Amino acid sequence: MAHDTENAVSFTSVAISDEEKVAVQQALASGHTHGDGPFARRCERWLEANHKAKRALLTHSCTGALEMAALLAGIGAGDEVIMPSYTFVSTANAFVLRGAIPVFVDIRPDTLNLDERLVQAAMTERTKAIVPVHYGGVGCEMEPLMGIAQEHDCVVIEDAAQGITSTHKGRPLGSIGHLGCLSFHGTKNLVAGEGGALLINDASYEERAEIIREKGTDRSAFLAGQVDKYTWQDVGSSFLMSELSAALLYTQLRRSTELQTRRLAAWQVYHDAFAPLEEEGLLVRPQTPISTGHNAHVYYLRFENFEAREKVRLGLRNAGIVASFHYIPLHSSPGGQRFGRVGSSMDVTDSVASSLLRIPLYADLSERDQAVVIATVKELVST
Ligand SMILES: *Cc1c(COP(=O)(O)O)cnc(C)c1O
Repeated sequence: MAHDTENAVSFTSVAISDEEKVAVQQALASGHTHGDGPFARRCERWLEANHKAKRALLTHSCTGALEMAALLAGIGAGDEVIMPSYTFVSTANAFVLRGAIPVFVDIRPDTLNLDERLVQAAMTERTKAIVPVHYGGVGCEMEPLMGIAQEHDCVVIEDAAQGITSTHKGRPLGSIGHLGCLSFHGTKNLVAGEGGALLINDASYEERAEIIREKGTDRSAFLAGQVDKYTWQDVGSSFLMSELSAALLYTQLRRSTELQTRRLAAWQVYHDAFAPLEEEGLLVRPQTPISTGHNAHVYYLRFENFEAREKVRLGLRNAGIVASFHYIPLHSSPGGQRFGRVGSSMDVTDSVASSLLRIPLYADLSERDQAVVIATVKELVST
């Protein structure tokens, strides 16, 4: 079937206004294009004020923030780290780089987040960290996880890559564990191009985090006038975000209410439109309403099985609409089999991976395009 280009709908889109262009030009004109400039400082203060971290440090990516967290938590060879299998590779790789073993635990069928009820049984005396991933910006059950971690003297590192502006029981995602990691990758709700942030909620990590982020030197203390020269102190790497990216990010953070209002509205339009199809048993909608405090990072539909999902995915593609499945579970990928092991049954993970479909959702999604997506899904599931 030919693509109907007139009705083509892309999968993601970045909402860029003149404000972003002015800010990036201002950063260029200032001559300060490397990290830790005035825009970077403003972003960090914004995250501390609005995302309630004791301290926020901008990084070049969420992957970088996770790598910093693994270093700060002192993860080493043979240590075990509990995490879901239904996640992006960086959740695991940040720890595998330190020689650790990812231990994959199944997800809850309602939120698709790490099933906290299965974590205790996967813990061993080598478990050093728990890494909850807030899928689609929906918060994990953090209280029981923090309790288990405390009992076993483990560090909790939130992979809140998808969680900017999201809350769990009123608390911003990334501000609950000892450390939290945010992403501002071009596909996330607010973007820096490539970018991330490490949120430090346990102040004892602060000083070392600054050193690790600055190639293992005390350059931050030097710039703050606390030492008269900077020298090599510890292990580290270059984890900073460029000032050009920070200028873009600062504008996005300032516009977050506007951008989020539009995204949340689009999410709700899908949710209302698909309710009758769910009642007919043709699909399953997300089970977490906007009132739970999530940020509408994704809208996904689940179908009875792989064949039913593929029928809709390919049907949408033929209509020029890009829809996408999500993670290939880490436990079933070559890297996961080489570096990790499973710590529970993977039944929910396997069934979600084969039956879930994400449909286009972004702040700039037009009413017309959204209506086309809805009508096409309706047609495909009813025939
Ligand atoms: C996007 C994402 C990452 C990686 O973020 P980058 O900023 O691209 O490094 C990590 N974990 C999850 C769950 C993500 O969605």
